[in-house]
Amino acid sequence: MNERILDHVGIAVESLDDAIAIWETLVGTPATGRERVEDQGVEVAFLGSGAGRIELLAPTRPESPVARFLERRGPGLHHVCYRVPDLRGALAEHEATGFQLIDREPRAGAHGHQVAFLHPRGANGVLFELLESGEATADP
Ligand code: ZN
Repeated sequence: MNERILDHVGIAVESLDDAIAIWETLVGTPATGRERVEDQGVEVAFLGSGAGRIELLAPTRPESPVARFLERRGPGLHHVCYRVPDLRGALAEHEATGFQLIDREPRAGAHGHQVAFLHPRGANGVLFELLESGEATADP
């Protein structure tokens, strides 16, 4: 079993500007990497660097998944994201072991990364994101 590295924790917010001010104070670092991901209907910003960052997500349109999440559950923990060396392989593996995939194919995430989501039903109610990265595992 390969231990995976936590890439980031995603937090759904109503206003990216307001959330950045709060989280810059909490984390003690300026937000970086602000970007609109049109495919997912979100604008994101990151706090911290390397593994274990915070990703703030605000909806860019009312019908985006994050907008629906905010309507149902309000702001808060939206997903956790772990790095994998081979995203397609990891998706096939998770599907074979009974996890429900939201994405059967990798899609474009922030900063040009390939990402895919597993359904929260299989992960104790937490949306689970996989991100393909060369630095995908902890030291053996
Ligand atoms: Zn994410």
